[in-house]
Amino acid sequence: MERRAIRIQGVVQGVGYRPFVHGLATRLALAGFVQNLGGEVRIEVEGAMAALDRFVEQLTGAAPPLARVDGFDCRPAPVRGEHGFRIAPSAANVAAPIFLSPDVAVCAACLAELFDPGNRRFRYPFINCTHCGPRLTIITAAPYDRERTTMARFAMCRACRAEYDDPGDRRFHAEPIACPACGPRLQALSGVGATIETAEPLAAFVAALRGGKIGAIKGLGGYHLACDARQEDAVAALRQRKHREEKPFALMVPTAAAAEQLCVLSAVERDLLESSARPIVLLRRREQAVTANSVAPGHPYLGIMLPYTPLHHLLLRDMDAPLVMTSGNRADEPIATDDAESLHRLAGIADIFLANDRPIHVRCDDSVTRVVSGAELPLRRSRGYAPQPIALPVACVQPILAVGGQFKGTFALGRGRHAFVSHHLGDLDHLEAYQAFACDIELYQELFAVRPQRIAHDLHPDYASTRYAQRQQGCDCVAVQHHHAHMASCMAEHGLEGPVIGVIFDGTGYGTDAAIWGGEFLVGDYAQFRRAGHLRYVGMPGAAQAIREPWRMALAHVRDAAVEAPSFYRRLAADACCVVERLLDRGFQTPLTSSVGRLFDAVAVLITDRDRVTYEGQAAVELEGLATASTSSGAHPFTVVDGDMLIVDTRPLVRGVVADVGRGLPAHAMARRFHNTIVEMVAAMCGRLRQRTGLERVVLSGGVFCNALLGAETPARLRRDGFAVFSHQRLPPNDGGLSLGQLTVAAAGGGFR
Ligand code: ZN
Ligand code: ZN
Ligand code: FE
Repeated sequence: MERRAIRIQGVVQGVGYRPFVHGLATRLALAGFVQNLGGEVRIEVEGAMAALDRFVEQLTGAAPPLARVDGFDCRPAPVRGEHGFRIAPSAANVAAPIFLSPDVAVCAACLAELFDPGNRRFRYPFINCTHCGPRLTIITAAPYDRERTTMARFAMCRACRAEYDDPGDRRFHAEPIACPACGPRLQALSGVGATIETAEPLAAFVAALRGGKIGAIKGLGGYHLACDARQEDAVAALRQRKHREEKPFALMVPTAAAAEQLCVLSAVERDLLESSARPIVLLRRREQAVTANSVAPGHPYLGIMLPYTPLHHLLLRDMDAPLVMTSGNRADEPIATDDAESLHRLAGIADIFLANDRPIHVRCDDSVTRVVSGAELPLRRSRGYAPQPIALPVACVQPILAVGGQFKGTFALGRGRHAFVSHHLGDLDHLEAYQAFACDIELYQELFAVRPQRIAHDLHPDYASTRYAQRQQGCDCVAVQHHHAHMASCMAEHGLEGPVIGVIFDGTGYGTDAAIWGGEFLVGDYAQFRRAGHLRYVGMPGAAQAIREPWRMALAHVRDAAVEAPSFYRRLAADACCVVERLLDRGFQTPLTSSVGRLFDAVAVLITDRDRVTYEGQAAVELEGLATASTSSGAHPFTVVDGDMLIVDTRPLVRGVVADVGRGLPAHAMARRFHNTIVEMVAAMCGRLRQRTGLERVVLSGGVFCNALLGAETPARLRRDGFAVFSHQRLPPNDGGLSLGQLTVAAAGGGFR
């Protein structure tokens, strides 16, 4: 007879861990108790030694699906001669780190009940259990208990209560437990918000969508706008009403098999689609895919997700057609969550609303991801992923908050060896997004019991996040250079200890010389970095206007390269061209930039005749789409100017592109040759930096590496040269990953004060 005291850390609360332990101990005839203590699970267990060994083995080996064990400690304790195994009441202990599960797609067991006519929850759209359902989106305060979720307003019926209290039931302590008798209900509203009197709100919604109408449906983290993806008129109307001209819409299809009819699926992509996080996965579309043309006009990829709430499953089964499912907002606004606010904001877009009375507390968009070279490359880490902890390579001696950038906002809280990176908050220049940012920082601080003493922010003085940081009292502020943060973010997720070579390519980031950086070769670690090289500076005529009107960047590059580009000039309005040339000549409202994102813009204009963009990153996305269709192996010349700082001279490249256009090469071949040149450029620069520094590890980060072609070809090329290459797999390479980088830099004592 022996006794053991066991402590388990990680995502072990709210995921069915205690009933799992209870079941295991009971089966092995062991005595003792299990208890939630702060963020940990504590177990004391006694019995025969062989049984104890099996118990310990299975504790970690057979844990429930949502549990993630990060720390495990087992030591002998004095035998007490107890009988039976019990679940002891929870106790608070603020010293322990606290973890919270993300929202989880409905599980197979619940799904089976959903479609079982004999079950009391048959077709109940809010069915859930300990292993599935909402988490982050409904929690209002810590610790995670029903009273502190938006389910608090629903009193459990006797049947639900009995399941909730029974350790043998799979709904033991399922905080959002509900049934048709006691839980949330659907409600259908007309486009102007009048209640539609019907016993079957879902049927009314389905009928409207079948009839080509646009619906707004309340999901886990906000409202979606939905329509039948096969009806061209409906999709076109949605585009027009949402003021979304060309950016592709995501689709929801019932199963991976249905996704396969539209797109080519690898095994990894299928696993991602079917994972409990249920992200939108960018997939290569089939030629003969049957959807309305307006879903993703001219795009080689479709963003596809599978149903993740029981309501989605009912909807897709009743519709029997792929649905457009796009965030319920007007262009660029954050997703709408509040019912009254949603009615107001989506009036004029939606013809019918499918609402319900379970409030959403945390606004949470769908996550977006893709697969590159067999590995996940996250583009937006949000629902289903946040707020899973990320292990830090440097310990936070004091609690730290990192506020991220301005676009694709996220923040991160650091405590000890863990970071909690928030869900996606959108572009902070929108008031709603900024308000959610400030409000969710407070919520995370409470949930994870972190009171920051240090705040890390971007070096850019005008980011809303920077100003937020500077307004906080009693914290010391650390400014982190944008591309250093990108580099540190990629290093941190791989647990690298520096120094490394960082190849950081993105759109814009504030440099230490006040120029706009974005084609950077850095050398350093978390605590410090040195800018070892960059792309040659060109003017950005009209600053931000040059992003919306990429023809301005094309003009800047063409003039910098001093190349004749008659066909390009012919397209430009003479007066506008004159104005921009004057800006360039005088350097007025024309910051200097080394941005690769802007170089993509310029080349896209030259190759595709597209002079304007209707969404961020459009030129680059289209160039990638074109290039993927070509196998051309040619590349343009470029030169590297030696010195303390290595400068990549882009002028020969621009001349090469203009010459290709003059020769009338097909657009896809030109796009491919440009991509090949970028890859060669990285290889040449890393080769020189290795000669100078002896470093052989390269991290790739920055929004340009959302590009799957560069994301696959660049590491392959560098590995041929003997480099160890690290790309993002858990956080986005774009500005959504900045907060984690800022956090690690601040934890390591880097950044500017
Ligand atoms: Zn379930
Ligand atoms: Zn009930
Ligand atoms: Fe960036």
